[in-house]
Amino acid sequence: MDKSEILKRARSFAKPYRVTDGKDFRLKDFDPGDTGDLVDEDKARAKEVLALGVEVLAGQQERLYAQDCWSVLAIFQAMDAAGKDGAIKHVMSGVNPQGCEVYSFKAPTAHELDHDFLWRTHMRVPERGRIGIFNRSYYEDVLVVKVHPELLESAKIPRELITKRIWDERYEDIRSHERQLARSGVAFCKFFLHLSRNEQKKRFLARIEDPAKNWKFSTADARERAHWKDYMRAYEDAIRETATEWAPWYVVPADNKWYTRVVVAAALIDTLARLDLHFPKVSGEKLAELVKAKEALLAE
Ligand code: AMP
Ligand code: MG
Repeated sequence: MDKSEILKRARSFAKPYRVTDGKDFRLKDFDPGDTGDLVDEDKARAKEVLALGVEVLAGQQERLYAQDCWSVLAIFQAMDAAGKDGAIKHVMSGVNPQGCEVYSFKAPTAHELDHDFLWRTHMRVPERGRIGIFNRSYYEDVLVVKVHPELLESAKIPRELITKRIWDERYEDIRSHERQLARSGVAFCKFFLHLSRNEQKKRFLARIEDPAKNWKFSTADARERAHWKDYMRAYEDAIRETATEWAPWYVVPADNKWYTRVVVAAALIDTLARLDLHFPKVSGEKLAELVKAKEALLAE
């Protein structure tokens, strides 16, 4: 398969999960167990496709870095055990670590709470030429915080600014923020790894039963599970309000990890393919310099 064929396939593979206009978005139209045209027997082939995807991505990232003009911001959001960490690990495995930055955003510190909700992530937006990965992001401020509005109290926001309009105001702030970043050269790729409640239960049980996975289990995660419906509503609202052409969401089926990873890789490849990436052209002047340098080296 030649490169343009691979890019074409990546685009069509990711397309069913790409949301650029939230108007009619309904989470129930997306099946967490979806594996597209692939069945369980294709698992081994999917792994080969992923390996190929990782290679393609590595090549694109080299150009991104050399051109030093665009940056890519991949945001990962999901319920616990949806496979964010695994997807990041596998998909980015071939990329030069120098051109890639991963940040995990946990519950905000007191220092972070002393600032607006976009402050801590804004500082981590990748510089030109880099791929940045946010493992959770400012979206938590319209997800976990919307499900637990009491968190707003600890945020020290002036009381009179906490009204029932606060969520709509935050969506608007996020849209403007992403628009501004896109206008300065940030290419967005936002992932919601869409896991079913039943599959989460299975994965939690595996974390409890397998001693090697015990460290991954926290009772806090299990507690959040009780708010499943509220979380799904918050995710649906967030995607509906913030899916745009310049910052699309990918609602990725997450009940089958092998499939999740292929879709994530395809979406990232497509995001980079949409940028006009090429190695910088060397000017005539620079070429002349190179010839001189070569002569000097050979004359030593
Ligand atoms: P994990 O990604 O599993 O290590 O968990 C990080 C935890 O931090 C999750 O429970 C998130 O909901 C929480 N978190 C991240 N950002 C925020 C935020 N802005 N406000 C409150 N909790 C947050
Ligand atoms: Mg966790």
